Amino acid sequence: MIKIKDIKFSVKKYEYKKPFHITNSVRTEAFNVEVELITSNGIISKAEASPSFRVCGENSDTVMSVADKARGVLAGKDIKRYGNVFNDLKSSVDSPSLKAALEFSILEALCKESGIKVWNFLGGVKKEIETDKTVVISNIKDMVLEAANIKKEGFKILKIKVGENVDKDIEIMAEIYKKTKGMKYIVDANTGYTPKQAVYFAKKLYSRGIDISVYEQPVDRNDIKGLRYVRFKSPYPVAADESVKTIDDAVNLIKKEACDFINIKIMKMGFSNALSIIQLARANDIKLMIGCMSESSLGIKQSVHLACGLGCFDFCDLDSHLLLNEKRNRGEFIQNKNIIKIC
Ligand SMILES: [Mg+2]
Repeated sequence: MIKIKDIKFSVKKYEYKKPFHITNSVRTEAFNVEVELITSNGIISKAEASPSFRVCGENSDTVMSVADKARGVLAGKDIKRYGNVFNDLKSSVDSPSLKAALEFSILEALCKESGIKVWNFLGGVKKEIETDKTVVISNIKDMVLEAANIKKEGFKILKIKVGENVDKDIEIMAEIYKKTKGMKYIVDANTGYTPKQAVYFAKKLYSRGIDISVYEQPVDRNDIKGLRYVRFKSPYPVAADESVKTIDDAVNLIKKEACDFINIKIMKMGFSNALSIIQLARANDIKLMIGCMSESSLGIKQSVHLACGLGCFDFCDLDSHLLLNEKRNRGEFIQNKNIIKIC
């Protein structure tokens, strides 16, 4: 038996290198909750919750408000029987980002005891993954310059935030394409378009010969019919992001044939529910990508282990730590341009 002896929680503030502007949201800083789990035999595991108010209605204050309860639920529990511990956590704590951090820290502590890493425990499929890098919403000149710089840095996949002005977005995509030919594009409207606008955007780009690998969350998160409409009317594969936070959401999207991809983010759903949604998607031939909120390198580590362990993601959008000011990389991975490799 390895008991959970204590869990410490602390709020950490990170500043963005430049304002993180996406549809109807601008952030200049992120407040994450760091978790330190200590076991009865002296193992320490650190993890991070990066709550999203926009997507999940939680922030560092709401996470901290349930931290004591989570500690009370977990104290004294045997991590060797982590399935029971996860169930106790699920039934008592309603914070997906905190669940992600706590579930990961429990798995990591168990793996440390066993002399393996979490990615090995999950399957050890890939030693490294490739991530994209994001261009946030700005004026055309700055977005094109940023995209060109990301290409120069060595990234092969570009994520572009759109969704506030469809005609400007078409122009931006055309200009970015001129400077970054050869790259793959993930275009994320973050719920900004109506279904008709979303199809208009896609058809305009297609007619200019621009290919998009993933067209992410073009429409409102609750408009599953609209998402399906875009999926069947647009030439590009459509991903659900904001529309999928729970297992029920994933079941509904799959039943309605509303998306080609599901964007897995552990901060939306917790670590164990992410595993369930991944299994569900794979069983139904839905493709997978993995994304992030505002995790520092410590929090990104969690998704890196998931992505390397399972090796099932066609695209990894794990770049939030690159957009934040951080003194040093605490993720125990090596970042070589677009490649992330676990140490
Ligand atoms: Mg997204």
